[in-house]
Amino acid sequence: MSVAQIIREIESVDPHLDTSVVDRAYAFAERAHQGQKRSSGEPYITHPTATALTLAKMRVDLNTIAAGLLHDVPDDTPYSLKDIETEFGPDIANLVRGVGKLGKLKFRGVERYVENLRKMFIAMARDMRVVLIKFADRLHNLKTLDALPEEKRERVARETLEIYAPIAHRLQMGDLHAKLEDISFQYLYPTEYQWLQNLVSHRRTEKERYLEKVQKRVERELTRNQIPYLSVHGRAKHLYSLYRKLLSRDRDITKIYDLVALRIIVKNVQDCYACLGLLHNLYRPLKGRIKDYIAQQKPNGYQSLHTTVFCDDGEIVELQIRTEAMHQEAEFGITAHWNYEERGTMPTDKRLRWVRDLLKFQRAIPDNRQFLDTLRLDIFQNRIFVFTPKGDVIELPEESTPIDFAYHIHTEIGNKCNWAKVNDEIAPLETKLHSGDVIEIFMDRNRKGPSVDWLKFVKTTTAKQKIKAHTKQRLFERLKNLVTRPTVAA
Ligand code: MN
Repeated sequence: MSVAQIIREIESVDPHLDTSVVDRAYAFAERAHQGQKRSSGEPYITHPTATALTLAKMRVDLNTIAAGLLHDVPDDTPYSLKDIETEFGPDIANLVRGVGKLGKLKFRGVERYVENLRKMFIAMARDMRVVLIKFADRLHNLKTLDALPEEKRERVARETLEIYAPIAHRLQMGDLHAKLEDISFQYLYPTEYQWLQNLVSHRRTEKERYLEKVQKRVERELTRNQIPYLSVHGRAKHLYSLYRKLLSRDRDITKIYDLVALRIIVKNVQDCYACLGLLHNLYRPLKGRIKDYIAQQKPNGYQSLHTTVFCDDGEIVELQIRTEAMHQEAEFGITAHWNYEERGTMPTDKRLRWVRDLLKFQRAIPDNRQFLDTLRLDIFQNRIFVFTPKGDVIELPEESTPIDFAYHIHTEIGNKCNWAKVNDEIAPLETKLHSGDVIEIFMDRNRKGPSVDWLKFVKTTTAKQKIKAHTKQRLFERLKNLVTRPTVAA
């Protein structure tokens, strides 16, 4: 691995770019790390080089790639941040400083976990590129974990699984997310990993062979019906996500329909629907498993048509239909449309709204444990997607209720919520919602406020906070009334 590989990667996309900053950063890093070795015995420079290559593949701007090369210089070498700033200017120096800050953790245990998360979110809100460098850094560290003592291996793998992977997932960086999880899984739960490997290998090959036949037939039909396609290919579910799904299905692999799915990439949205129609004509769809994430995309931006069908011989197969742009976005998330020439912080993306919301929360909740509960509930828990009667998508944690939905829309709607309809039927306020439900809230304008009992079943932090705040306020007013009300003679 060398700087030439990084330059080649950049030039394969844009041959006219002036890449001298990358060359200079490499020369600087090589000089700074001279004589240093990784635990594996390799020259240290291999690590920043691999980090920068990952970044080049993400097509981040050249300053970020340069910062990837320099990221360990201030910590481990005679050169300081000041030297980097003098040589490369403030933007690159700030990126390196940001990465360094993420690595310095004071606490242990839960405190450390929360501190780590807080730092990640603050960095993300300030400059997303810092977190991307950290991802690339972590990916290479994971790939070279073998060289570390067991205790350290476990810590790095656990931290990746608990912090880095969920964040990558939330940023819809599908490719990175899968890599981070699968490598960590292997180190953290070696026995389970081996069990799954054995369980899957045979079945997966079988299924892949079967899908090849389906693929040929689908390609033939698409051509015959003049629907141009860019690719039809099988995609294997990554191991850790398969593992999690298996745990929720009594470890029964026959209950997993998307072990290998067939992915069809077409030119435009119209063709997506044409393709779906064609395939449903060919294969009978399973009830309730057609998902139109194109018309109603997931809030993090994911788009595709999903359906599960009975193929020949009754074999069940999941089909995913999308355009090339949707495909890029699903694999590379927020970095999908970036290019090497963009400067400064990346444009604030609609998909980063949750980061800003979270930071507001973290200021409001100084207590670490409470903050952690918020995260567990609102960020890392599985999400469901439900709809307003007008068809707007609302994302909520699993097991949310109509009350959570109401508070998500507006505080007043929550406070005055009287009854609800779920899918056109009257439903109790504690009903657990499912993805795809349409919820309609009916208010009573005269209602004094939320019921304390709601606290027993609401799931979101917003709802809990609002209910508590309102209850406190009412209690306060009642007390005040009690004190100031003129006594009436009996
Ligand atoms: Mn590093």
